[in-house]
Amino acid sequence: MANRKVVKIVRGMPASDGAGVRLNRIMGQPALPDLDPFLLLDEFRSDRGSDYVAGFPDHPHRGFETVTYMLAGRMRHGDHMGNVGLLRPGSVQWMTAGRGIVHSEMPEQENGLLWGFQLWVNLPAKDKMSAPRYQDIDPEKIPMVTVKDGVGIRVIAGKVGEVEGPVRGVVTEPLYLDIMLPASTEFGVRVPAEHNAFVYVFEGEARVGDKPVARGELAVLNQGDLVNLVAGDEGARLILVAGRPLHEPVAKYGPFVMNTQQEIREAVADYQAGRF
Ligand code: MN
Repeated sequence: MANRKVVKIVRGMPASDGAGVRLNRIMGQPALPDLDPFLLLDEFRSDRGSDYVAGFPDHPHRGFETVTYMLAGRMRHGDHMGNVGLLRPGSVQWMTAGRGIVHSEMPEQENGLLWGFQLWVNLPAKDKMSAPRYQDIDPEKIPMVTVKDGVGIRVIAGKVGEVEGPVRGVVTEPLYLDIMLPASTEFGVRVPAEHNAFVYVFEGEARVGDKPVARGELAVLNQGDLVNLVAGDEGARLILVAGRPLHEPVAKYGPFVMNTQQEIREAVADYQAGRF
């Protein structure tokens, strides 16, 4: 077993996206532009409606996947093909944009806490123009594994022991875990050795591998098949995410992520001509 170590710790920066939603951009910013195959990680967390009520009206995506994980509050999703869905606390939407979707993501509330994450996961060249696909996962479909000392793990994607998460068929073979560690508990998580991986602590603090990581910090890990976690005095809650790197060139322009600038120009032209 090779214990992973922390190679970098980053804090998010305040950002505004959509129609003026205030959020914390943790990946996809100068301190951490990306971590192959991951392109962006946002945390939105506010109990002031004015921070989020304008939402994310109609906008396109092409060439990658967006993953929304709700912790509190509700978001309504709708797209140009007539699909609709409501994300509730604890639910996940894994959306494979493929060749293109135009959708909106709007808070279904005007006040109260809205809290969650959006992660962008890249697609390899061979899948960038695939048909769009949704995996809308209700909270009760996400298994909770309780291990020793009250450590609890929601398995969104990938495996913990024999328990497999409900998100399936994603080309980068992701592991996406929401891990709850009571005060001073310790747990070792098996991860695919060659995957790139990170931990983001969103409650309390924890020692990740060889370093302490505070609330609001993301730890980038080196390679290895085990991530050792030790909660601080007040416990910790974190996401651990890993994925198989693509090792392909990335051409990124707003909501389009392709391999070349020519493909970006085609994406913009296709969108402007209504071909999504
Ligand atoms: Mn979107």
